[in-house]
Amino acid sequence: MNAFVEVFDDAIERANFLDQLQQNGKPLGKLHGVVVSIKDVICYKDHKVSAASKMLNNFTSLYNATAVERLQQEGAIIIGRNNCDEFAMGSSSENSFYGVTKNGFDESLVPGGSSGGSAVAVQMNMSMVSLGSDTGGSVRQPADFCGIVGFKPTYGKISRYGLIAYASSFDQIGIFAKNIHDVSLVLEVIAGADDFDSTAANQEIPAYSKALSSTQKYKIAYFKQALEHQSLDQEIASAIKSFIKKLQADGHTIDAIDFELLDQTIPTYYVLTTAEASSNLSRYDGVKFGYRASGEFGSLQEMYKKTRSEGFGKEVHRRIMLGTFVLSEGYFDAYYTKAQQVRQMLSQSVQEIFSNYQFIISPTVPSTAFKIGEKKNDATEMYLADLYTVLANLVGVPAISIPLFKHSNQMPFGLQMMATHHHEIDLLSFSNYLLDNDI
Ligand code: GLN
Repeated sequence: MNAFVEVFDDAIERANFLDQLQQNGKPLGKLHGVVVSIKDVICYKDHKVSAASKMLNNFTSLYNATAVERLQQEGAIIIGRNNCDEFAMGSSSENSFYGVTKNGFDESLVPGGSSGGSAVAVQMNMSMVSLGSDTGGSVRQPADFCGIVGFKPTYGKISRYGLIAYASSFDQIGIFAKNIHDVSLVLEVIAGADDFDSTAANQEIPAYSKALSSTQKYKIAYFKQALEHQSLDQEIASAIKSFIKKLQADGHTIDAIDFELLDQTIPTYYVLTTAEASSNLSRYDGVKFGYRASGEFGSLQEMYKKTRSEGFGKEVHRRIMLGTFVLSEGYFDAYYTKAQQVRQMLSQSVQEIFSNYQFIISPTVPSTAFKIGEKKNDATEMYLADLYTVLANLVGVPAISIPLFKHSNQMPFGLQMMATHHHEIDLLSFSNYLLDNDI
């Protein structure tokens, strides 16, 4: 499936060590023996990490990501690193230096992206849970395409220390699993304040996995513009509409609300994330670490140019150039400042909605998994796959995709739910209820 870039040889040693602990009657961690894989953008000390890029091919992590450190402390086994789009930029896992990852349901289809390898690893039982990163949907969208649960917490819930940066004000580590209990258990282990990441929130972390019962009746909103969107598959639209009726019959209040800004989310997301990416990726210049082009150079500039031209793939080039453009002196106000203003407006209107409603629901993606190659040469089409997911990252709220539906083309698809900042517990409890009960 090409879901793994590397399986770590020392995983067996680690398993033996954990068995030994158990045999010696030592206290066991919450994740004792749980087999976890990590997206190839998360650092695991003394193991390679490459962001699926030639630029970092053969680079070895110097330290553990905080999330990895905490998994290890609770007895998890990190079994390997998952394939993904280069530097987490993409929606199909086709932009990888190591080649495309295939969807386990149908190998001619993409698994989604950018955390496609993580999704397939869990889908095909190669790992029990996987950590991905979600900057604009990269956990929820592949979870939708692969028929599993994908969860992105509130921005800052999980430390980003040791996560290779794409767009720092959007990036968040997310969790793939087959059920909500597993997601919750992993979340309570890895979430929480961290001295190494000043954006990590200081909130108390409850035992999510023990608080999953939900008997509440909720107030839920959905956007009219989302269900009427021209890019939405008609069958997905009608499945969500009939699900809304079921939720009403189950005693929840569901309102359609106007959200005129929906069409502004993707442009805003791509202006801001490319700007942040162009800055974050400037460190890959062939000087301190990673790939360096070979040959003799007349100047430092020449070495930078050749290294960066050869080391990055096409999509990363596109984004660095776009990001540099929107930050350039003559265009800064027209694009970057404008996009920041729209981000602010989005935050305000979402906050207003959450003062009246507990959840906002939508499809996770406008279509089911598409063919490998189908959108590879049309960036705008590809970006539309993020239509429903980028909002949660623009405003920083938690969001989940749960596998509730099956299309007549036999592929699964999910329901996306968002809640307000730090209300993970509501999101997880209600998701658990919806997955466990046939409402
Ligand atoms: N598909 C989106 C992008 O290409 C989201 C990626 C992500 O969440 N890492 O930017």
